[in-house]
Amino acid sequence: MHEVSLVRTIFRTLEEQFPPEERAKLKAVQLKIGPLANVEPILLQNAFNAVMEEEAQGYGDLQLRVNMIPILIQCQACDQQSEVENYRFVCKNCGEPSGNVVQGNELLIELVEMEE
Ligand SMILES: [Zn+2]
Repeated sequence: MHEVSLVRTIFRTLEEQFPPEERAKLKAVQLKIGPLANVEPILLQNAFNAVMEEEAQGYGDLQLRVNMIPILIQCQACDQQSEVENYRFVCKNCGEPSGNVVQGNELLIELVEMEE
């Protein structure tokens, strides 16, 4: 399952960035995900729970948060950016079709929260 390997990658990143004493204080890891990244938030949460059970030692009460961001296109005809709804890649300003995606592929750790 794609989401499980993704979650494992997140944990590897946390291990690289935080020594064990800091990992124990992590409260939340927030991901920024665009719809074009092909990640299902519910599956991701399930995968996170499963991996947390395996790797619970060393982590406190770590939560996963997902910040889903919209797809944005930049129109070549009128140069306006607009939000893509229901995968209709059409400029909202002038109605021209556009595949010029400027946001929506994201899949990254946006922030990590730690106890004081
Ligand atoms: Zn346009």
